[in-house]
Amino acid sequence: LAKDQGKSTHRFFTQELNNDMIEKTLLEMDLRQAISRDEIELHYQPQYDMKTGRMTGVEALARWNHSKKGLISPGQFIPIAEESGLILPIGLWVLETACKQAKQWQEQGLLTIRMSVNVSIRQFKQPTFIADVLGVLQRTGLDPAYLNIEITESMTTDVQYSQKILQRLHDEGIHVSIDDFGTGYSSLSYLSKFPITHLKIDQIFLQDLSSSNTAIIKTIIELAKNLSIDVIAEGVETEEQAIFLSTLRCDEVQGFLYSRPLPKLEVEKLLQTIPV
Ligand code: C2E
Ligand code: MG
Ligand code: MG
Ligand code: MG
Repeated sequence: LAKDQGKSTHRFFTQELNNDMIEKTLLEMDLRQAISRDEIELHYQPQYDMKTGRMTGVEALARWNHSKKGLISPGQFIPIAEESGLILPIGLWVLETACKQAKQWQEQGLLTIRMSVNVSIRQFKQPTFIADVLGVLQRTGLDPAYLNIEITESMTTDVQYSQKILQRLHDEGIHVSIDDFGTGYSSLSYLSKFPITHLKIDQIFLQDLSSSNTAIIKTIIELAKNLSIDVIAEGVETEEQAIFLSTLRCDEVQGFLYSRPLPKLEVEKLLQTIPV
């Protein structure tokens, strides 16, 4: 009996694996058409200066509006895009759309804000990465100082390569953030070698302000201050978290407490209420 059970568990397991793979392959096929079908959209989440309360920027976050399945989160489709290589055309579309949008808001005379764009490792490692970014800036006419590229710690394991790329971005006047900082096990010594402008504390530390998490957040903020890097806390949901961050003199905040990621028109409405 035990043997039979083992067999059926095994069969059930592989069946499930197969279903997962089929589901993924189908999604990948749909994702291939998503851009041309206009199904990918950007939402923008505001970021605020903690001291002045002023809006400093937005982070562009991709949304996939699947014709049959409805809204699919980036947590679901970005990994598929990365595995299949589709992240290259999608990432370029995101970059171009975000920069075009930032430029358009400036031309409408709204508050000039920084546009943060997430970049995946496949894009970062692409030999044409710098040329792609510069091409987008040229086509859209956005001042490089208002583009902020978000990379993650795990993308910087090849220190020499990362240093070269980050220096090129820096020389062009483009800002760079390290996203989800604190969970990537990377050496801290590289931070001083990389010309980055912002550190984004991983929201996992804020979710539960235990003594070890508060110690980690304090340490990250102190480290960033010593290196003259601005710190952004993301995932701020409660007043308690905000007060904690403000006593530590965290520079900027982003989170549901202030605003969810918003569609373009809602950002425009928000910006129209802010004096320039
Ligand atoms: P991320 O870059 O760390 O973005 C922050 C995520 O936290 C977003 O999830 C945002 O909606 C969410 N968030 C913001 N404030 C709060 C809060 O107060 N509480 C909670 N619980 N969550 C909050 P989202 O939009 O689902 O994106 C997830 C991840 O997908 C992003 O994490 C990023 O790694 C990736 N992603 C999104 N858009 C793109 C893109 O265009 N390109 C690439 N390569 N990755 C993207
Ligand atoms: Mg990000
Ligand atoms: Mg993050
Ligand atoms: Mg994240």
